[in-house]
Amino acid sequence: MSDPADYHRKLAQRSKAFLEQRASSLLRHATVERYKASDKYREKNRRNSDLYHSRNPEKRRASDLLCHAVEDGRIIRGPCEDCGSTGKVHGHHDDYSKPFDVRWLCPLCHVRLHRMEKK
Ligand SMILES: [Zn+2]
Ligand SMILES: [Zn+2]
Repeated sequence: MSDPADYHRKLAQRSKAFLEQRASSLLRHATVERYKASDKYREKNRRNSDLYHSRNPEKRRASDLLCHAVEDGRIIRGPCEDCGSTGKVHGHHDDYSKPFDVRWLCPLCHVRLHRMEKK
């Protein structure tokens, strides 16, 4: 025996809880969006990339030199050494003090190599 009034009360309670939950998740989303648009967030991002370059001056120098050499035609990009892909290959440096001593790797093999190095 179910009481229709009780049933409706329960239904109302449930949908109220649902709406409250939804409202709070929308609010959370809006807060994140606002944070991303804030100067604080941009400033933080900018500082991270400065930090990256100041911590890796060698790396930056090596890739700049390599990039210029490729543009000038002094160095020819090869196919990926791992899979033979001739798409957009990266020059990977085993040693940043030798900017022209590179391995040509496609983005996929390049990322994989760096992941293996980290382990
Ligand atoms: Zn590859
Ligand atoms: Zn690399």
